[in-house]
Amino acid sequence: MAVVKRTSSNVLLDTALKNFYAAAEEMGLEDGLIDILSHSERKTCVSIPVEMDDGTVRVFDGYRVLHSSAIGPGKGGVRFHPEVNLDECEALGMMMTWKCSLAGIPYGGGKGGVSCEPLELSKKEKERIARTWAARMAPVIGAWTDVPAPDVNTGGPEMVWFMDTISKMKNQLEPAIFTGKPIPLWGSKGRTAATGYGVATCALELLKNLGKSAEGTTVAIQGFGNVGTYAALTMINAGAKVVGISDITGTYYAPNGLDIKKAFDHVSNHPKRLLEGFTCDGCQKLDLPEVLFLDCDIFIPAALEGVINGKNADKVRAKYIVEAANGPITPEGDAILDAKGILVVPDFLANSGGVIGSYFEWAQDLGGFFWSEEEYNERLIRIMKDNFQRVWSYAKEKNVKMRRAAFMAAIQRVADAVRMRGVFL
Ligand code: NAD
Repeated sequence: MAVVKRTSSNVLLDTALKNFYAAAEEMGLEDGLIDILSHSERKTCVSIPVEMDDGTVRVFDGYRVLHSSAIGPGKGGVRFHPEVNLDECEALGMMMTWKCSLAGIPYGGGKGGVSCEPLELSKKEKERIARTWAARMAPVIGAWTDVPAPDVNTGGPEMVWFMDTISKMKNQLEPAIFTGKPIPLWGSKGRTAATGYGVATCALELLKNLGKSAEGTTVAIQGFGNVGTYAALTMINAGAKVVGISDITGTYYAPNGLDIKKAFDHVSNHPKRLLEGFTCDGCQKLDLPEVLFLDCDIFIPAALEGVINGKNADKVRAKYIVEAANGPITPEGDAILDAKGILVVPDFLANSGGVIGSYFEWAQDLGGFFWSEEEYNERLIRIMKDNFQRVWSYAKEKNVKMRRAAFMAAIQRVADAVRMRGVFL
């Protein structure tokens, strides 16, 4: 009997399912496995009653989805956002399964959240929400079960409230259940730069495989936040010229190369961490979208999703794109870039430095022994290089684009794990 394909009215979940079915069919995956991997292992919904600062009580909805634990415990963020819902968590959990699988780390995929508007909450209200989420999710999360991390509107403080709550409930410290903790509380050195380093490592491996030198390669980067800054610094350290950068204040362009260290100091000292007011030798200020269309070898979108799409992809002049943001190119944009011969390194390979960094934090917490930043970076770069080469070779072997190759390689590793473990529970 053929698989009855799942569909969803939630666009994100429907797209995640369609992408999975298309790749699984192309790989010739057996029906039983397609059926298993198109479903989540566990979907947990909890109510979160909270006493607000004014004495009233509000009840929020909380979620955690474990898509697959075939390879290892679930891994994925917990977001606080008004649009969080179960379908979104399921879609993002499934994507985490493929991302962790491709990264070659011992994790499955999970995602969670609370439907709330953090801008309307005080710090104390956020703390009560976080602690109640953790207490009610205690039966389904754990260092060997499902390991949450920061996501939209959550960070170090939320991870500490989660960890403290579970630790007090169990009367023992449980640091390895959550990653993204501050360094003094079982966090890890090196995490801040991990995603940007990983993105730049992919860009440099790409050049190496193409027989090109990093020296003098021109780069443009959209977004000069956490990921964009560290990607830019790593590229210039390798000898590349970053000719364009941008943030919400506009595009900053210098055909002979921008002073990236000066730009980094500028945003570090700006109260809102913006490029506003930045200048250096030869720098011109252009409109916000211009960064997308600069004449350069490598373009790194490191801001938002869907920025290159059916309406503007034909204007892109870069030769290669390394996706740092999640989903910066729409399927329509992808088709146009493909026809123009622009090679794309897909997001879930290029930006996996973040989740590999989470794995490093977990490994250090379980061992109770901490690494230096140099050890962390050395291991990160080694893993990123291996992963890039695996996808590059797989794409050549199967004669497919890197995005499809990455997806197929990721699904293959999970499918192999399910086959080895067997169908039970
Ligand atoms: P960030 O908030 O630190 O920085 C985002 C940057 O994008 C800022 O400079 C902001 O001004 C800029 N920006 C926003 N809208 C813009 C626009 N319309 N045009 C140009 N610039 C714009 O975020 P980040 O942590 O650097 O993450 C960037 C992207 O990478 C996001 O898509 C995120 O999901 C993805 N990502 C981040 C990590 C991580 O570890 N931080 C991991 C995986 C994926």
